[in-house]
Amino acid sequence: MRVLVVGGAGYIGSHAARGLRRHGHEVVIYDNLSTGYAGLAAGFELIQGDIADTRMLTSSLRRVDAVMHFAAHAYVGESVENPRKYFRNNVEAGLALLNACIDCGVQKFIFSSTCAVYGVPVKVPITEDNPRLPVNPYGVTKLVFERALEAYDQAYGLRFASLRYFNAAGADESGEIGEMHEPETHLIPAAFEAVVGMRPQLEVFGTDYPTPDGTCVRDYIHVNDLAEAHVLALQHLEAGGSSIAINLGTGRGTSVKEILDAVEKVTGKPVPKFIAPRRAGDPPALVADPSRAEQLLHWKAELSLDQIVSTAWKWMQSSSARALRK
Ligand code: UDP
Repeated sequence: MRVLVVGGAGYIGSHAARGLRRHGHEVVIYDNLSTGYAGLAAGFELIQGDIADTRMLTSSLRRVDAVMHFAAHAYVGESVENPRKYFRNNVEAGLALLNACIDCGVQKFIFSSTCAVYGVPVKVPITEDNPRLPVNPYGVTKLVFERALEAYDQAYGLRFASLRYFNAAGADESGEIGEMHEPETHLIPAAFEAVVGMRPQLEVFGTDYPTPDGTCVRDYIHVNDLAEAHVLALQHLEAGGSSIAINLGTGRGTSVKEILDAVEKVTGKPVPKFIAPRRAGDPPALVADPSRAEQLLHWKAELSLDQIVSTAWKWMQSSSARALRK
């Protein structure tokens, strides 16, 4: 298939683009490079455009059979301080993309959703029928988009997959692409920054949670496992499968403390750190029940926590990452 990877110059989108190519699909990347990097799209056709630019989108959409949509803002804290930015990009511009798809006859749509749509889960591990009650504007914008997909399916025959990611982490084995955010807020790259002296210390946000070691528990999933699930979701739609909403996680919970232990093991160096207050909006534990993805897509996360941390470390030290940081 020919696939437009919108936001393909970002962290998860760039890995999905390579995943599609590995499976023999043709990829065109569409990205406004506001937070993405042309370097992450190297080797692919890159159209530099905004999803709110319907004219430019239309000419790109006419060339493809399906869309994968990764172009969104994704910082919970920022969404609380600046919800306008989130509603404008994730909802308003996202809907412009979706409408352009319908108008151009593109009926297969893979959406980057998030476990943030669940808010504070009623039970962990989280299944897809957990109520969707997001507790921050970021999660609300993703839920609004999921609802639009459901309505467009009913009314216009759109086929979609809402893929609810847990904590994406790690990098491609090649060391050529990986996670790059400005500023970096995610735990694993932030811990590396503390190890190499790019930040003075890592803040551990709370050690008094009701978890085994008192730190927050998350479900860290390798970005290439996510990429693989995107390809399978697309192939499910291509084979005539109905629309789906599925969790993408490992089913394995890891605490902040366990992540820092893994970082110390892989780097062979201590992580300079101090205990800080809890970060607003962090639930104690978020772990996926990934069984629906296994049933519907025959997909299971394959890569271990050690592989997540070691590939992320390889990327952090790579010449490609250094070139992007300049
Ligand atoms: N975390 C932390 N210090 C940091 C960044 C994150 O203690 O500098 C914790 C955070 O409170 C959460 C976990 O690490 O429990 C994962 O946070 P991250 O921002 O990586 O992902 P999120 O779960 O917010 O999507």
